[in-house]
Amino acid sequence: MKKLGFLAIVLIGFSVQAQGPNLEKDYTAIEGKVIEWRREIHQNPELGNREFKTAEKIAKHLKSLGIEVETGVAHTGVVGILKGDLPGKVVALRADIDALPVTERNDLPYKSNVTSEFMGEKVGVMHACGHDTHTAILMGVAEVMSKNKAKIKGTVKFIFQPAEEGPPPGEEGGALLMVKERVMDSPKVDAIFGLHINSQTPVGVIRYKSGGAMAAAQTFTINVKGKQSHGSQPWSGVDPILISAKIIDGLQTIISRETELTNEAAVITVGKIKSGVRSNIIPESAEMIGTIRTLDYDMKDKLNKRMIEMVSAIAKAYGGEATCEINDATDITYNNPELVEQMLPTMKRVAGDANVQFQKAITGAEDFSYFQREAPGFFFFLGGMTPGSTESYPHHTPDFLIDDSGLLLGVRTLTEMSLDYLNSDQKPLLDIKPKG
Ligand SMILES: [Zn+2]
Ligand SMILES: [Zn+2]
Repeated sequence: MKKLGFLAIVLIGFSVQAQGPNLEKDYTAIEGKVIEWRREIHQNPELGNREFKTAEKIAKHLKSLGIEVETGVAHTGVVGILKGDLPGKVVALRADIDALPVTERNDLPYKSNVTSEFMGEKVGVMHACGHDTHTAILMGVAEVMSKNKAKIKGTVKFIFQPAEEGPPPGEEGGALLMVKERVMDSPKVDAIFGLHINSQTPVGVIRYKSGGAMAAAQTFTINVKGKQSHGSQPWSGVDPILISAKIIDGLQTIISRETELTNEAAVITVGKIKSGVRSNIIPESAEMIGTIRTLDYDMKDKLNKRMIEMVSAIAKAYGGEATCEINDATDITYNNPELVEQMLPTMKRVAGDANVQFQKAITGAEDFSYFQREAPGFFFFLGGMTPGSTESYPHHTPDFLIDDSGLLLGVRTLTEMSLDYLNSDQKPLLDIKPKG
């Protein structure tokens, strides 16, 4: 028995060694620091495009590691470039750093008591999506990798991104602005990896989906024009409220009757409807706004086209007029299938086969998608639910909580994925166009 145990240890040791440098000592050394950073950031959250102190902390850390640092990217973003001693490809790692206007209800020694102003209102500020963990994990990866610079074949770009949850109204920001400011160029990124902590996935587990993993989000505005009349005499006017009701009904049939839901999910939601002033007036007009979620580019195009046609045709059928304007908010978080295949063995080695699990598509959106339009990317989910728990609060709520014993797996996974990617002889994937 003893001999078998010894053999197993040797084999495990060998399999880690065979993939590249053995960083076990560095991982052990970094865990405490990552947890400490995470707690400090959690206690001092900052809203999107206002992450001044968070950015300062990140920049200071990267500089202390000898990493080349650029600050003020897309307002408050920080980009670090670590050049390995050997030539090779360029891999980018992204962490988002912004918090949300949510008042924390957790009883923690590092609870946030921060308040700020959001859209003219005083709000509590909380890392209610777990971006504090992403920031701390990537700071940890930067430290481990900079210590092993001599063994790195290629370049690692650390992207600390502001305003993932969306910039304040009237401002630009987030991944889209970073891309506009050419964060994916010089040096040009060959592949990008990112993760999101998840409060409902147990610590130790990684979940992923190849292809469309998170939805494209679009907003739409429908303007219905009718003809105002007395509420008692509808025949002398055109009722925009009735037309709106028919339009809402029609839009849902695009999903239920015209969309091949066995391919991917799709959602149309009317979130607001505004019309009229009092009981006995049929108003002149109505306005509706809403969101569209799609996971497939062809479905997205078809759905958009049909919405515009249907809105106008329905209004016309009832004697009115209507327009539908659609705007992109976030693209499809599209995990390049070839890159996913290439990186899965690494993930399984790090987390264990059984802990790398399939994730259903998510109709929520993520602006990591904008980086994936520039280079093949892989975005996955990391467990943050306390081991043994069966329940936890969802993201964006005042009770949202992440168990920081799960953070080290994030550090290990991103580090090992980067090293394996850079060490592999495989040429960078050129085709980043999502296929159906
Ligand atoms: Zn969020
Ligand atoms: Zn998030």
